[in-house]
Amino acid sequence: MRIHNLGFPRIGHKRELKFTQEAYWRGELNQSEFLQRCQSLRQQNWQTQQQAGIEILPVGDFSHYDHVLNTSLYLGIVPKRFEHQQHNKLDLEFEIARGQSQSSCGCASNANGSAASDMTKWFNTNYHYIVPEFAKDQAIQVDISSLLAQIEEARDQGFTTKPVLLGPLSYLWLGQYTQGDKLELLTTILDGYQQIFEQLNQHKVSWLQIDEPILGLELDNDWQQAFKQAYNELKKGSLKLILTSYFASVDHHLELIASLPIQAVHLDIVSEKTDIQRIIDTLPKHWVISLGVIDGRNIWRSDLLALYQQLEPVYQQLNGRLWLAPSCSLLHSPVDLDQEQQLDSEIKNWLAFAKQKCQELALLKAALTTGELQAIIEYSTPVKQRAIAAKIHDPAVQQRVRELTEDSSHRPQNFAARKQIQQQALGLPLFPTTTIGSFPQTSEIRQLRAKWRKGEISDQQYTVAIQSQIKDTIKRQNSLDLDVLVHGEPERNDMVEYFGEQLDGFAITQFGWVQSYGSRCVKPPIIFGDISRKKPMTVDWISYAQQQTTKPVKGMLTGPVTILCWSFVRDDLALEQVTQQIALAISDEIEDLINADINIIQVDEPAIREGMPLKHSQWQGYLNWATAAFRLSCAKAPAQTQIHSHMCYSEFNDILQAIIDLDADVLTIETSRSNMAVLDAFEQQHYPNDLGPGVYDIHSPNIPAVDWMVNLLNKARETISDDRLWVNPDCGLKTRGWQETEVALRNMVQAAKQLRTSVNQREPQPVESALS
Ligand code: GLN
Ligand code: ZN
Repeated sequence: MRIHNLGFPRIGHKRELKFTQEAYWRGELNQSEFLQRCQSLRQQNWQTQQQAGIEILPVGDFSHYDHVLNTSLYLGIVPKRFEHQQHNKLDLEFEIARGQSQSSCGCASNANGSAASDMTKWFNTNYHYIVPEFAKDQAIQVDISSLLAQIEEARDQGFTTKPVLLGPLSYLWLGQYTQGDKLELLTTILDGYQQIFEQLNQHKVSWLQIDEPILGLELDNDWQQAFKQAYNELKKGSLKLILTSYFASVDHHLELIASLPIQAVHLDIVSEKTDIQRIIDTLPKHWVISLGVIDGRNIWRSDLLALYQQLEPVYQQLNGRLWLAPSCSLLHSPVDLDQEQQLDSEIKNWLAFAKQKCQELALLKAALTTGELQAIIEYSTPVKQRAIAAKIHDPAVQQRVRELTEDSSHRPQNFAARKQIQQQALGLPLFPTTTIGSFPQTSEIRQLRAKWRKGEISDQQYTVAIQSQIKDTIKRQNSLDLDVLVHGEPERNDMVEYFGEQLDGFAITQFGWVQSYGSRCVKPPIIFGDISRKKPMTVDWISYAQQQTTKPVKGMLTGPVTILCWSFVRDDLALEQVTQQIALAISDEIEDLINADINIIQVDEPAIREGMPLKHSQWQGYLNWATAAFRLSCAKAPAQTQIHSHMCYSEFNDILQAIIDLDADVLTIETSRSNMAVLDAFEQQHYPNDLGPGVYDIHSPNIPAVDWMVNLLNKARETISDDRLWVNPDCGLKTRGWQETEVALRNMVQAAKQLRTSVNQREPQPVESALS
């Protein structure tokens, strides 16, 4: 039996990759210094895995930016507009990923119109890949010298490795092709893979890990046939293929997989329930079967004893044909738990990061091969203790969840009735202007938070300083003459961590970073127990902001589904219930905001799509409880309280019914990626409530002109009636500077005013139209 790994976090223990990338981009490192540092990161990673006991290490899992982009570069699939960079491979790589003018924001999008390729979520993770762009007569020019160099590098250092390659079908699936059916390109792509195989053969590669995560999806017949065609056509020479899938079970495609001419298969057995015996019975008797038994995407210590009991009969049957691995690449897991010095020691005992997951595999293998159980019994003790720990159980919270009924997630009045009441209460003009929440996070603000965290300034000093930021932000918005103001979020480092820090049931790590895209890492909080709110989390800041102005200030909260999706979540309670608990905590906050006379509250849900299971047939079930949780968080708001929500940088078209089901009074969305085309879908589905399609792209340094925004708004007016149309940017402004922000917003307000004049509005907005 062998233990192997599918991939290791590239970022390094202390996010070295990030700092190396950024230093290179600032020109502080030259190319060879940059490459040198990457090389030592790889060496560290291999060492860590080997010392932990992994026998076959991945090579080719590392990348300077993204592994899908690596694959494009191996194949020479480079969009035409970058061809001038061909001579400098590293700069080409970064230019495709970042374009010329790069900005980074929580939403992970590249500016429209900038040269960068699109970036989008890697399946249902928060990792983003660079979307391959295929052209009509796509040419291929294979160059895997960088991969071959890494294979050599690992050999020179004495490591036993297997190269990792994204498979041809998944690669094709993930790309963009506007000229027709992507499968038209299969032959071309296969030609490239054939050349790669030949070169790997020449380099005496034995095992090749070929990742085909799309097998977890419900593929139609054409794609299934394409799988057969591809793997039958590719001449492997002496390469042995281990076909890997992850993030979902592949039970539905098992017959297809069994028909492929490969030597081994790796299956994720933690993401969904699966029948291991059926897998063994269905797959050819000479194949190696690798089981992904350790959750590669979460941070919980494994119950090795339970795994032993499950796997022992499998090992008896398969012996050397059984391999063990994490469920997926450990790219999605933080690096090393040993670094955490501030975590509660009881909680720390319940966790395992990438390094610890490798150690778990070694322990498990030792138990299975020797029958010696003492080590895994000891290792698993904290897991058993966790199940009964007082910390994770809060009977009052459980009781609240049990008492929820269908009505708990509905506001008493329907939208039309609420709209009329809100119009009277708020008296907003036609085409109201607002922003999405954050304002520029200046270095002054970031330093302030850092000093406060380190105890260098007192709570009192911190409060006064943040208040003065808020006061300034309100003043600026007033002079811009925006209609609905925000406090600007200066107190928030991150829209999820900020709440995670304040809620019971959450733990925050110091170094639990995972790569989100490029140099950007996120540090998801850990949901370990029942969730509740100790005390108000935002009310003081928002109330302070409201005291500075007579215009309405919007309360600003993160929604329950986004908090769930951007956290590591306990594995001992259904996601639906965890989300309900978060929703109840948010609901408590909303009640307090309302009692503090805040009449408009925004509950952001930019991550709602991320929780979607891979399999289409499971989407509806997820969307039902996700939208219900959002509504639950807002259901206590009386009719006169206007609930906003915001979403961005994801595909809305196929989840529009769910977006309608959120029943937010006002929804602000990002539209720059589609240039307002997304509104057609909103029209087709008769989106009923108020809508604020973003009129300018906050990632672009260009200042949007008044006429440009008027034009966009006029385009929007073809699908949204005037009385429902809001005017706002695409997303939060925290990554921008004040100067550009003020000019852009001044133009935006001007655009709204021009429009008001042009529709010749005499009276306040006609309320009846909301009812028609
Ligand atoms: N309110 C948040 C902000 O403005 C929303 C961020 C987001 O959509 N990701 O920053
Ligand atoms: Zn956004």
